[in-house]
Amino acid sequence: MKAEIIIIGDEILIGQTVDTNSAWIGEALNRRGFDIVRKITIHDNHQDILGALNEIGTGTDVIITTGGLGPTSDDITKQTLCEFFGTKLVPNRVVLDMIEKMMKHRGIPMNENNRKQAEVPESCRVLTNAVGTAPGLWFEKGKTVFISLPGVPYEMKYIMNEHVLPDLSIHFKSQAIQHRNIMTYGVSESRLAEILTGFEKDLSSEIKLAYLPSYGIIKLRLTGTGKNISVISHELEEQVIKLRNIIPDLIFSEDEESFEMTIGRLLKTFNKTVCTAESCTGGNIARMLTSVPGSSTYFKGSVVAYDNAVKEAVLGISSNIIRSEGAVSEAVVRAMAESARKLIGTDFSVATSGIAGPAGGTDEKPVGTLWIAAASVRETISEKHTFPGDRITNIMRFSNAALNLLRRLVIRE
Ligand code: ATP
Ligand code: MG
Repeated sequence: MKAEIIIIGDEILIGQTVDTNSAWIGEALNRRGFDIVRKITIHDNHQDILGALNEIGTGTDVIITTGGLGPTSDDITKQTLCEFFGTKLVPNRVVLDMIEKMMKHRGIPMNENNRKQAEVPESCRVLTNAVGTAPGLWFEKGKTVFISLPGVPYEMKYIMNEHVLPDLSIHFKSQAIQHRNIMTYGVSESRLAEILTGFEKDLSSEIKLAYLPSYGIIKLRLTGTGKNISVISHELEEQVIKLRNIIPDLIFSEDEESFEMTIGRLLKTFNKTVCTAESCTGGNIARMLTSVPGSSTYFKGSVVAYDNAVKEAVLGISSNIIRSEGAVSEAVVRAMAESARKLIGTDFSVATSGIAGPAGGTDEKPVGTLWIAAASVRETISEKHTFPGDRITNIMRFSNAALNLLRRLVIRE
């Protein structure tokens, strides 16, 4: 099944708004077995929209457009869709009721624009929008489905999740599809691909493997497609068992979890707590840990000891060690982890000290150098890494390396 995405909006062409809609739609459709063959971004005008609709490939099954549906756009998209499908705008009672209710709730009187929003092309099916005023529109021409959605990202997602994705799977019910997401860490993407050469070669044609890297973590996505969901599910499970045997030390989750989610689950299970002492990551590890719902049960707090004066005054690291070893050193990062754990009173702690760049590197300690430590009541473990990358990439990679060290210590205990 082939899909195309058409993004409508002048603000996207000139870079004022970054197009996140097509990435989200592309991923959502791809997960359900669609091959995204093309996406384009065009001006919010009649001629260009019509031009794009006329250029759609003959083998395309689904076209999704976003943008230009709202009251600010003079209904350019809707008018143009009418012309393309040879239909006209008619008032829609259901949409009008929804808009009236929404405006009443907000205490805003209805105006002409709101009434115009309740007009829809006669030949389409309306996909109701409970979080905004512009509904989604579903057209069919031959065996092709055309879907037009508002540009506001949360409205687009609402209509996709509520209507488009479930309705598409009913409409194109011939294929069953299932995914397994195996999270790995520890080797580069190219090295992992090398290790998995034989595994990949043995995969049947119904199973596809994708490598999805993000700051040191590589998600292996196995996608199975076929006629029978239980056959696919069984085959995927067999492949996961194989992976467990080939890369047992690299897999940290089989459920698409991030490190912070895995750690959260472990700490909750064992009723343990954690804190962080962060220099080069500037609180990013604390942010990641607290982004998980329910983290208040195990995350206690953080010391962002960016300046050496804070390492000394708050964490009590001796100025002699900092002077003799340097702030980016094993001795300092271990002392940071141990001191924060005692100060905040947790079972575990994790600490970072490194050089994120672009300045501050030396021959001995180049940009990308990182020392990390994780401490428990019983022991402290530490590691040195060197990463290539810009500042923000380094901070993300540093954070994942530190979280992985913490995870290993939690598992060991
Ligand atoms: P409305 O006019 O009712 O807000 P609309 O369907 O006309 O909705 P647009 O005017 O195109 O949509 O965009 C509305 C908002 O959504 C704008 O803030 C715009 O920047 C944002 N937006 C539009 N398209 C995208 C996109 N592809 N990715 C991310 N944001 C988008
Ligand atoms: Mg608009």
